[in-house]
Amino acid sequence: MNAFRVTLACNRPRLLWHPSMQYRPCRPCPLDTTHNGAMSERDEFLRIILPPRGIEGMSFTVMGECLIDAVVLSAFRDAGLRGFGVKTVFASSTKPNLTDSRTPQCFALPDVWELVPTGFGGIASPDAGTALMRLCAGCGYSKYSAIANLDRVFDQTEWDGSDVFRIWPIPVVMFVSDRAAEILHRLRLPGISIRCIDACEELCGNTLTPGAPWPYWPYEIASRIHERMVASARE
Ligand SMILES: [Zn+2]
Repeated sequence: MNAFRVTLACNRPRLLWHPSMQYRPCRPCPLDTTHNGAMSERDEFLRIILPPRGIEGMSFTVMGECLIDAVVLSAFRDAGLRGFGVKTVFASSTKPNLTDSRTPQCFALPDVWELVPTGFGGIASPDAGTALMRLCAGCGYSKYSAIANLDRVFDQTEWDGSDVFRIWPIPVVMFVSDRAAEILHRLRLPGISIRCIDACEELCGNTLTPGAPWPYWPYEIASRIHERMVASARE
């Protein structure tokens, strides 16, 4: 099994967040005020500016959220793929006018959903070169050294077998299984790039600040990741 990264091809425009969308700090870190990012929470339902052509197949926002249409959702469901949920997306077709303070109204899109990965692709193996450098006891803020070996990031022995998943400590990146990648290839989605993790050089080279695992997985999985971080911070 390989992990495949699904993204927008680099020359394609990303969907813009509606100006009313925001990240809200949940509560300040009791130990360090610069850690508020680890505690932020996005509005539950995504609101975007809808491009004139709408959403065809699959698209991504500037913040990395993945949107799919009914064709992709049916293909995933018909194949029995696991590891994802979908959420209603709201959109406004008017671009915000900077000279007008009124926010354009949003409506629920009938055939477009946010694809929310819920699967767990494990914690990157220490052989990947990324190691925990900092873990805040107040809020869970974390910092890791840069990934050096891409072929060791996905540890199949830790993977929960789901088809849409995230890997710690790069939880903002969505990965899919062989089966899901094959389905997406078959759908020939315009502007979508599907690459094996080994080829994703852009994931290397920078220290990682993934924050805390809770926003990315169901509570039980996130708590398990956190416990392992606490254990490795003690080593
Ligand atoms: Zn903190």
